[in-house]
Amino acid sequence: MQHFNIAIDGPAGAGKSTIARAAAARLGFIYVDTGAMYRAMALYVLRNHIQASGEAEIAAACQKAHITIRYEEGRQQVWLNGEDVSDQIRTEEVGNLTSQISVYLPVREKLLELQRQLAESADVIMDGRDIGTCVLPGAQAKIYLTASSRVRAERRFQELSEKGMSCDLDAIEKDIIDRDYRDMHREHAPLKQAEDAVYLDTSYLSREEVVSRVIEIARERGLKLEE
Ligand code: C5P
Repeated sequence: MQHFNIAIDGPAGAGKSTIARAAAARLGFIYVDTGAMYRAMALYVLRNHIQASGEAEIAAACQKAHITIRYEEGRQQVWLNGEDVSDQIRTEEVGNLTSQISVYLPVREKLLELQRQLAESADVIMDGRDIGTCVLPGAQAKIYLTASSRVRAERRFQELSEKGMSCDLDAIEKDIIDRDYRDMHREHAPLKQAEDAVYLDTSYLSREEVVSRVIEIARERGLKLEE
């Protein structure tokens, strides 16, 4: 049976995971967060003091880092060598390191297979940087979700402040711009809008408006919903 796949790509902090998770819950789809898989790989690199610029060392690390995905009450967990690291991967340090190591082909090839298997096994909403262009080029619905770098930095600032972490808005914006630059200019599977993706700027939209629009796009692309 052919499953319905929704691909959401876009730059850091555009709200992809929040939107994809909410839309998946409404549609009864599985939400696949591919960034979490890259983050788990970066955590392995960080913990083992491997140099992010050493391509050969990173390629060797790919053989040793065993990354799997599980679902617990619909929530994705990412496991690294038998340990649930879903929380440990969420730091800014890991996020920045992730965009440095995800430029390497062995890292991308390692995770591509896992991502495609998940999409073949269920109806999924998958978010990342290269889902519509590379991982699932045949996805029925594709969305390129973005917002201005300032708006994205403000959202992240608020998130961190709510967790009681002290942070600096300008520094967050600079990190976001640097990360986008690396993701958009790398050789393998750079972040870009797929030709058949719908461009959605969320700068001035509420979360609910964006979720509804995503569902509408999926319907326009053939998703049948039971009324
Ligand atoms: O989405 P998230 O912030 O968790 O992604 C972290 C990093 O993982 C991105 O900045 C990007 O470098 C990398 N990534 C990727 N391809 C994906 C998903 C994430 O290269 N499909």
